[in-house]
Formats: sequence, C-alpha cells, structure tokens
Amino acid sequence: MEYRNWNQKDGTGRSISTSLLGYGCMRFPTLPDGSIDEVRAEKLLNTAREAGVNYFDTAFPYHGGASEPFVGRVIAKWPRESFYLATKLPVWNCKTLDEAKAIFEQQFQRLGVDYIDFYLLHSLHKARYDAAKEMGIVDWLWEQKAAGRIRSFGFSCHDNAAGFEHILRDQPWDFCQLQYNYLDTDDRAEEIAGDRGYALTEERNVPLIIMEPIKGGTLAQLPPDAAAPLRALDPAASAASWALRWVASHKNVKVVLSGMSAEDQLGDNLSTFGQFRPVTDAENAAIHQTADILRSHIRVGCTGCRYCMPCPMGVDIPDNFSIWNKLGMFGQKDAIRQQWTAHFPDAEKASHCVRCGKCEAVCPQHLPIRDSLAKLQTELDSL
Ligand code: SF4
Ligand code: SF4
Repeated sequence: MEYRNWNQKDGTGRSISTSLLGYGCMRFPTLPDGSIDEVRAEKLLNTAREAGVNYFDTAFPYHGGASEPFVGRVIAKWPRESFYLATKLPVWNCKTLDEAKAIFEQQFQRLGVDYIDFYLLHSLHKARYDAAKEMGIVDWLWEQKAAGRIRSFGFSCHDNAAGFEHILRDQPWDFCQLQYNYLDTDDRAEEIAGDRGYALTEERNVPLIIMEPIKGGTLAQLPPDAAAPLRALDPAASAASWALRWVASHKNVKVVLSGMSAEDQLGDNLSTFGQFRPVTDAENAAIHQTADILRSHIRVGCTGCRYCMPCPMGVDIPDNFSIWNKLGMFGQKDAIRQQWTAHFPDAEKASHCVRCGKCEAVCPQHLPIRDSLAKLQTELDSL
C-alpha cells in the first residue's frame, strides 16, 4: 500500500501517515430493503484494512444515518491507534451551536470512540460556512481540538474556486477535502473548485483529501472512443485505475477516497494503490485526450454558474443541462433514465419553460437555452 506522510503530528506526537487509498463509507453494499449488507460490508472493510488501508471516512447522514453506527461496530474490533477515522458535521442541520454540539456528541456515541482523528464541516459552500462561523461552530470545534476530542480539523467543500478560497483562507485548517478528477478541472462551475482549488491547497500548504475521484463511478465506464487513448497504452488497466492514478499523482493529495461497494472494485483499487505508479507525461497526455473526447460529447456548454437562476417557471436550467451532458458524455442510458424519471423533480424539468428569454439575456456563455431545453426534454423522455 502506498502511504503519504503529513507534515503534522497526530495528537500523540506521531507523524500522520495515511494510506493513499481511503475507504469512503457512503456506498456500502445493501440488502433488498436498502439497509447496509453488514456481513459483506464488514468483509470489505477488513480486507481493505488487511491490505494496508488506514483511512476510513464516514459522515452523519451516510446511508440514512446508518453508516456511523455500523462503522463504529466494525472498528470496535480493531486496535484504536491502527487506523484513522474521519467523520463530518452536517452543518445544514444546525440552526444553533447547541444543535451542533448535540450532533457531535451523538457521533461519538454512534462511533464508540473517545476521539476522532479527522473531523470535517461537511459539504461547505461560502454561505454555509459563514453561517456556521456566525453561530460559533467553527470556534467551538477548534476548542474540541485543543481538548483532544478531535485531532485534525478541516472541511469538505462543494463550491467554486472563489467560494473555496474564501473558506480556505479564513482559518488555519489542518486539511480540506475537495471533489477533483480529470474531468472536474474547470473552476468556473457552480460546485467545483477544479485546478484552481487544487493549486490553492498547494499554495496554502493545506493537505488535501480527494472525494469523487471517479466522478461518482462515471469515469469507471467510458464510451469506447474516450477509452481508446488509455487502452492504447495499457489494454488491461481499468478505466477507474486511470482516474485514481491521475488524481493521486498530485503531490498535495494525501488520501483518495473511494466508496467501494463491491469486492471487484476493492480488488482493482487495492492493486492500483498496492503498486502505485504516478502517471507519466505520456499517460497524462492520454488522460487529457480522453477528457477532451468526453467534453466533445457535451450537448450544451453550460458551466453551471447559475447566473440564469431563478427561472420564473421553476426550471432548474443548469441541472437539466447537467443530466443531458452526462448522457452525451457517457451514454449509460439506464442510469440516466433512472435519474431523470425517479430522482429529478418534475417541477424543475425543462418542460415548464415558457420561452420568456430571461435566462438567455444573462447567460455569460450566450447559450441557446430555450431551444436546448426543448431538445433535452424530448431526448430524455424518450430514453
Ligand atoms: S426562457 Fe424558459 S427557462 Fe429561461 S427563464 Fe424563461 S421560462 Fe425559465
Ligand atoms: S445556462 Fe448559462 S447562465 Fe445558466 S448555468 Fe449554464 S452557463 Fe450559467
């Protein structure tokens, strides 16, 4: 297993050394009723740990609140100093500092531990961070660090580079967590800090944990033309391994989280990080070629900036475009159909557009929003 040393101590005076592959505890295998398949999931965790994975990342809301208690039952069987435990405060659920304190205490109960190695404010954007700070949650968590209840304090972020920079520069964070992969490099998008976000972590010397390195699994199943440059270099390597190696080759990346839900994914990831090879220049060029091919399939060049929102008819314009672009880039019709029919709110669909033109007047990309919405509604409905 590949490890990364941090220029930080862990609270007992030892240097922090994390496995480059971290286990994301949000996508465990499930039973038909949707609950965690605990027998299988525990085996996966044990296999990962035996192979050297020492970073386990859960959060209060994962698996509808069941991840923390389950992880707590598993880690109770392991020596406490043999692994790092990360969890996160759902700041959107906290209207007062007292509510945050109550959730924090509940997390210790659920996890059955008396300290948490890596504690994060979960899923921040600028407004959410400012509100948490205003409530005193940030100061109070630094006090928890001083008291030894948490050992490293950081945050995960879903904002663009400007929002991320605002949060990053505001505190002497021990670490931070970002979505970063070879397709999410554009920092103009609504929720992506991209290359600029990564560069900021280097500049500020704040160690970085990576989430969504495979973009929720989409980079694990590439269409044939996008996969071709990678296959030409190594026909046996999985698409996921290229995405993981690309992000893990960045020098400030300390952990790459993967939410492994099956034995074959775990096996593939363990082999990627068991004999880790940073990407070479030729491999990097091939990965960029793959990204360019994927981007060439984009149906509409929406950056997700949301300047066009709100639409008076309730249409979520960037979300409609995002799902349409995903169809263009990856195919994966079954998954997109499921997302469109079962998860995308009907009230926000393109069909409600009355062609008033308000959105097109402000779109910095000058996109033909009205015509594109009409086309996407027809195409997604016909899947
Ligand atoms: S043109 Fe359609 S999508 Fe744009 S603001 Fe008007 S109703 Fe909303
Ligand atoms: S449609 Fe234009 S304004 Fe709206 S999110 Fe996309 S790029 Fe931004």
